[in-house]
Amino acid sequence: MMSQIDDLPPLREVIRRHDLKPRKSLGQNFLLDLNLTARIARAGGPLTGVTVLEVGPGPGGLTRALIAEGAARVIAVERDARAIAALDEIAARYPGRLTLVSGDALEFEPAAHLGDAAGPIRVVANLPYNIATALLVRWLSVEPWPPWYDSLVLMFQREVAERIVAAPGSKSYGRLAVLAGWRTEAKILFDVSAAAFVPPPKVTSSVVRLVPRPEPLACDRAALERVTEAAFGQRRKMLRQSLRILGLDPKPLLAAAGIAETARAEDIPVEGFVALARQLSALTASLRGARSATKQSPP
Ligand code: SAM
Repeated sequence: MMSQIDDLPPLREVIRRHDLKPRKSLGQNFLLDLNLTARIARAGGPLTGVTVLEVGPGPGGLTRALIAEGAARVIAVERDARAIAALDEIAARYPGRLTLVSGDALEFEPAAHLGDAAGPIRVVANLPYNIATALLVRWLSVEPWPPWYDSLVLMFQREVAERIVAAPGSKSYGRLAVLAGWRTEAKILFDVSAAAFVPPPKVTSSVVRLVPRPEPLACDRAALERVTEAAFGQRRKMLRQSLRILGLDPKPLLAAAGIAETARAEDIPVEGFVALARQLSALTASLRGARSATKQSPP
């Protein structure tokens, strides 16, 4: 068991001194086990020369592990002002290596804070569960692609982790798996038992790594989102029925994408949804073209 990774005070003492009583509203479940924080810090590969974006550093356990494991710089976004006071001590101990951004991670602008990073940028975080999926969807929706990060190493509730890596045919397969699978290679690295957190959450957690695909299958993200929203919105129905909500006849769309009319959303692999999105984009563009031609034609 590791008992110390640096000469800063132990995390329990930091929590006591800064009165960091965990708040449920902020999704605060702290990790105090130094072996575990080191394992998460290393999970995305060596950190030398890497700039890390950490969301929700809290009392700083994972932050300290990232620095001890060699991250060139950590940029940490934290909403809780009490934690910022505790984190200031880490920043003072490692001049130039920890930048604190006080505020909501959902409003964080990567370009404003990461624009001058010299090496690769990696996101590593024990996420607050109430905004974890929203943050992931944002990182998966970055335009243009490939994104500004080399990988995402993130802690989720096990059930959300399963939805991210789910394969077609499984109960967890849905919009999140299609988006994640289209743009990244996602993998559950290991589970973390509830007992590892203070306070323990109700469920098991998992660390997931997502590595961006340099060239995902070409298609328009908005069109892909429209088809997956329609298809999984009524996941038990056949696609010839569920896709009607798109406002066009699903049958030619399905035929052009090479998908059976009777198939259901959960049977369709990522490539199938990409084919549907392409057909939807092509059809919308030709309808738009026809409409503007009618408008322009003389009376
Ligand atoms: N990284 C610490 C650890 O592993 O012990 C704390 C992780 S705790 C699960 C989530 C952290 O995210 C808390 O410190 C909480 O204050 C912070 N947080 C919650 N909502 C946030 C938001 N919208 N933006 C930034 N940080 C947030």
